Amino acid sequence: MKEFKRILTITMITIFITTILISCNKKVIATSSRITQGQPVKVGVLLNRLNIDYIPLVRQNLEEIQKENQGKVEFTFFYAEENQATQDNTINSLLKEGVDLLLLNIVNIGDTQKVINKIKEYNVPVILFNREPTPIDAIRSYDKAYYIGTDSKEAGMFQGKILVDEWNANKLNIDKNKDNTMQYVMLQGEKENLEAIGRTKYAVSVINDAGIKTDEIALRIANWDKELAKDAMEALFLKYGNDIEAIIANNDGMAEGAIEALQKYGYNKGDKAKTIAVVGIDATPIAQDLIKKGYMTGTVVQDAPAMAKALYTIGMNLAYNKNPLEGTGYKFDDTGVSIRIPYKKYSEANN
Ligand code: CA
Repeated sequence: MKEFKRILTITMITIFITTILISCNKKVIATSSRITQGQPVKVGVLLNRLNIDYIPLVRQNLEEIQKENQGKVEFTFFYAEENQATQDNTINSLLKEGVDLLLLNIVNIGDTQKVINKIKEYNVPVILFNREPTPIDAIRSYDKAYYIGTDSKEAGMFQGKILVDEWNANKLNIDKNKDNTMQYVMLQGEKENLEAIGRTKYAVSVINDAGIKTDEIALRIANWDKELAKDAMEALFLKYGNDIEAIIANNDGMAEGAIEALQKYGYNKGDKAKTIAVVGIDATPIAQDLIKKGYMTGTVVQDAPAMAKALYTIGMNLAYNKNPLEGTGYKFDDTGVSIRIPYKKYSEANN
């Protein structure tokens, strides 16, 4: 009996050690066997959808980084077209095939925990970006998950400041009904999106803080989309027409849509007396052109090259199992897992 117990104990210890060894080995295979063999870091870039202004710019900058770092990194891009199930399928296949890093512009921020749990099973690092999960706990639940975003407050504040400057410099034209109040339309990206909510809130509060009264004629949710914004603005213009003194759009795409609607009614074609102030965010090439022509008042630069660089440098650290911020100038914000890329005020002079 004693001998049996001894054999049983030895067998159990052996099984235990073997299990540990196998699971350790699995981790190595899952994360870095390609890298240790000198192959490029394989990165899956999962994007929500193609037609949001800022996303193509991030992609373009990541492609440039790949060109400049031949043999070091290989990005593959996938679009979910606003479908979380599609994105989940892509993530599953990438994890099964083997991938060193995921960069994730998640479709449905409410699914973050579920998606993180899946990725965690494979021990693959992941950086979520641009669409901020709330609360941030899902990111905190996995030590290889991080978030890179912007400061929505800052974007809204820059936008508000553009309208304050325009009001002060050009009040005769803006304050059409001479009531010392800015009557505005807000075109918001999404209802529950933290970035959209922050942009909306701070754009208006900066105007008020500058001593200018505001009156919201309407707020429309236009899904960051040019065509939806155009339709919304056409309807609003028919209803309110010349009562509208400013249009604040959460992104340039919606600002462009609004301007197209105004132009249909003879507005924003260069005549200052028949121009409604329109501000956006992103500084897309189209918006820059509209500003140059005097059809659009201003925009804010969401720094796509800086975002791409942060995704790359922090992502490479994670793929190599290093501290995410090692050798970088980035700092975590008070969540301890998020980095914020600053916005810049767009001006024609430095673009
Ligand atoms: Ca007014």
